[in-house]
Amino acid sequence: MAEIKVDNLQKAFGDFVAVKNSTFTIQDGEFFCLLGPSGCGKTTTLRMIAGLELPTSGCIFLDGEDVSLKRAAQRDIAFVFQLFALYPHMSVRQNIGFPLKSQGMGRAEIRERVAQAAQILQIPHLLNRSVSGLSSGDRQRVALGRAIVRQPKAFLMDEPLGALDTEFRHVMTGELRALHDRLKSTTIYVTHDQLEAMAMADKIAVMNGGLIEQLDTPRNIYDKPASLFVADFIGSPPMNFLSFHGNVEKGAEKVRVEGGEIGVPRIHESLGEGEFILGVRPEHVQFADGGALRGVVFGVEYLGTTQIVTMTTPHGTLRARAPADFILSIGERLSLALKPEKLSLFDKASGRAIS
Ligand code: ATP
Repeated sequence: MAEIKVDNLQKAFGDFVAVKNSTFTIQDGEFFCLLGPSGCGKTTTLRMIAGLELPTSGCIFLDGEDVSLKRAAQRDIAFVFQLFALYPHMSVRQNIGFPLKSQGMGRAEIRERVAQAAQILQIPHLLNRSVSGLSSGDRQRVALGRAIVRQPKAFLMDEPLGALDTEFRHVMTGELRALHDRLKSTTIYVTHDQLEAMAMADKIAVMNGGLIEQLDTPRNIYDKPASLFVADFIGSPPMNFLSFHGNVEKGAEKVRVEGGEIGVPRIHESLGEGEFILGVRPEHVQFADGGALRGVVFGVEYLGTTQIVTMTTPHGTLRARAPADFILSIGERLSLALKPEKLSLFDKASGRAIS
């Protein structure tokens, strides 16, 4: 078990800074996701923690010990790669036991540890099979077996489900989280898939251009995005952004705009008079007579249990989630209400959340 602390970590490749002054702590036993688009620095961060890449500056602490300059093999961390290079000519048992054999562990102990790992992953019946004939799910389990058999202090995983089809990914995210709940080992999981991160993580760090934009629980990241980038990256369909001109004052719970007021969560930064963005999730748009906003239906996407209604408004396009039985026609004019406590307010210039 391990607490992992990263202090002012930076990585440059020549002039290009891939990871910028990253500071965060992963609690012992936490499932921590590094989430962000391609090229934002997730893998580089993970490789530095694993010891596969040296930081340009900054430190990494494993249970309080500075391991920044230690080689990967000395860190007692298991790295699970995306492409599982199982040895095709070996049995499942030999594949899982391989890391222990390389460490020079005795046969009896290897047998016992492999049996334990197989039990945890519910694959004891496969131990004597060859890996070449296994389904992709069972191959994933064997690869995980090879990681957990070492009983490392922490697991690092880089898009381990990247090669799987969507349906099977869904099954494996559930299994990975269940495995984590059984082993309770600190896990860092890299993904660009927000749904995967939301489903599994205790904490998510959303990265953008080498920087952590927000580090929080999945719920807070969804409900209280710290920036336009985070708000846009999380949620499907993503949060709507409506542009307004108005007066934004610290401490207020409404903003004055032309023709009225909009209720918002308490504002923590004054902008004075200027441009701001109102963020509203599709499920928080209400179809209500006398609502503050007018929309004209532009498109309807029927999803079975709900439908996504795209509307034009004077402040931008708005997508709303509506009940499946709500009958709408293209060109219809609607009155819309927005739940004040569910809104997010952003400074248009900086992109930062201000309420
Ligand atoms: P992906 O999901 O595509 O792997 P990522 O968020 O994991 O993206 P990184 O692999 O960490 O991103 O890469 C961050 C940036 O650093 C990218 O622009 C990448 O091209 C660059 N980079 C990574 N490794 C090297 C390297 N060895 N030399 C030069 N540039 C690199």
